[in-house]
Amino acid sequence: MDFQDSPQDAQFRAECSQWLGAHAQLKTRSDEIFGPDLAPAERLQAARQWQAQKAAAGYGAITWPQALGGRGGSAAQELIWRQEEARFCVPSGYFSVSLGMVLPSILAHASEAVRQAHVAPALQGEHLWCQLLSEPDAGSDLGMVRTRAQRCTDGRDGWLINGQKVWTTLAQFAEFGLVLTRTDPEVPKFDGLTSFFLNMQSPGIDVRPIRQANGESEFNEVFFQDVFVPDSQRVGALGAGWKVTLTGLMSERLSIGATMPPDLWRTAAAMMDAAPWDGQSALHDGRMRERLADLYLNTHGLWLMQCRGLTELSKGRAPGPELSVGKIIAARTLQDFSYLAMDLQGSAGVLGHEEQGQAWRQVEQLWFGSASMRIAGGTDEIVKNSVGERILGLPPEPRTDKGVAFNALPR
Ligand SMILES: Cc1cc2nc3c(=O)[nH]c(=O)nc-3n(C[C@H](O)[C@H](O)[C@H](O)COP(=O)(O)OP(=O)(O)OC[C@H]3O[C@@H](n4cnc5c(N)ncnc54)[C@H](O)[C@@H]3O)c2cc1C
Repeated sequence: MDFQDSPQDAQFRAECSQWLGAHAQLKTRSDEIFGPDLAPAERLQAARQWQAQKAAAGYGAITWPQALGGRGGSAAQELIWRQEEARFCVPSGYFSVSLGMVLPSILAHASEAVRQAHVAPALQGEHLWCQLLSEPDAGSDLGMVRTRAQRCTDGRDGWLINGQKVWTTLAQFAEFGLVLTRTDPEVPKFDGLTSFFLNMQSPGIDVRPIRQANGESEFNEVFFQDVFVPDSQRVGALGAGWKVTLTGLMSERLSIGATMPPDLWRTAAAMMDAAPWDGQSALHDGRMRERLADLYLNTHGLWLMQCRGLTELSKGRAPGPELSVGKIIAARTLQDFSYLAMDLQGSAGVLGHEEQGQAWRQVEQLWFGSASMRIAGGTDEIVKNSVGERILGLPPEPRTDKGVAFNALPR
């Protein structure tokens, strides 16, 4: 494992830092959040502008090929960029589904004409793409997708889509979406799926934001009623929807790990130092120090795991499935941090940032966000199943649906 930047990476880090220093404000505290009082639509607008600035300077998509407007950089450079960007108060994260998951599928499977028309506006933040996979009865097992795409029978060269998606992040703001549909229910469940991209303003699409516990509406229900999509908007071959989806899911897995705020344990230590506990600082309490030590060890362990993954990538090998364990540890660690912060406040821990001050926003965000991180992109249980099978070599879960036509599966 290599923990140090190579001379080239060190130079790249210095370039990033210099550019960021000229175009953004350094955070005054590591837990500072961009535009805390902006409305969601305003924050997204700021994120679009920031993405456009980055794209113009060659930082919009570090690992994408230069021919597509990317930088043609390495995975290590991508991580360096994220580490440097995290030191500045900027609206980051809004394009992680659009550019980190959906566009990789478009780049890999859509036609040249589609790439020519759609990649640049997505990279510049002008178009936001959402990912329409999950349904009320198809989340962990996307093979159960029921949203139907059926060939038009009125002479048009296209399809009519009917059904419902759920948990679609930022669909209420997205210009385009990539939807996974069932085109053939008479073959085994993963073989009858096909992907299409569509304009989210198409007639027949109804987007309904879901109000979350934190008061925001980051995701949505999306209903399709006779939504027409031309065949030219099919992404990949007929019946190859699962392959298209896997490209996006794999890209998501590779980007996991950069989600941990780098100074979290320091923030926790400062909170502990400031919290009165039995007449002195909480740092004097052995049980509290134990929780701090756990936080530090998990954060550091994740960093080492990330270094190992990057070392593999730099040697031209794909990182192993152990990287996905990182998501479980990261989500748990973030959750533990928010529990710890609340415990330190005693009964005042139930109050919000309105009473506790701006610094409490990070705790609130992590309290809600870390719980959803344990579900998004594969629940803890699904990741553990994959660890059991792919790392520990345990027998796979029994599969009763293998080779069975989708419409013959029990409902
Ligand atoms: C913040 C967030 C953003 C999201 N954004 C999107 C998005 O943009 N687009 C999109 O399509 N989806 C999105 N999702 C949906 C997400 O992919 C699903 O929630 C996730 O895959 C789990 O599916 P589910 O909610 O249907 O739960 P289910 O699959 O119904 O699982 C319910 C419970 O059963 C357990 N379980 C299921 N199968 C097994 C098994 N085989 N073994 C053991 N336990 C099992 C699960 O672990 C879970 O605890 C998002 C979710 C979140 C939380």
